[in-house]
Amino acid sequence: MNFKEHKLYGIIFDKCPRCHSHDLFVDKNPYHLKNVVKMHEKCKVCSCVFEKETWFYFGAMYISYGLNVGLVAFLFLLYYFFFWSYTVHYFVAGVTLISLILFPFIMRKSRVVWLSFFESFDASFLK
Ligand SMILES: [Zn+2]
Repeated sequence: MNFKEHKLYGIIFDKCPRCHSHDLFVDKNPYHLKNVVKMHEKCKVCSCVFEKETWFYFGAMYISYGLNVGLVAFLFLLYYFFFWSYTVHYFVAGVTLISLILFPFIMRKSRVVWLSFFESFDASFLK
């Protein structure tokens, strides 16, 4: 099994969770904010429908919450071990700034992870 067949490949590279060939998003750059959540309707390779139902990606906010909690925990550990002598205001400002910078990236990743919960990889589409 090579890495392209692993579920993480589709999540890391924003690919269709069923075939890992077609892009999920219309614009590859998450920092083009006008198109940050604009997705293809379905995969051109395997016909996987990306929006299963109305408000399908509402559940992605749980993934986004988890990713943000992980980010804050990681930043807290950095603050605790390396910047403890500074006031907590620097920590709060740093967390706010980094969360705002990573917001489009985390928003997209949470959608990709959420969609991958409902679709399994099919190796027959790789050939
Ligand atoms: Zn596909």
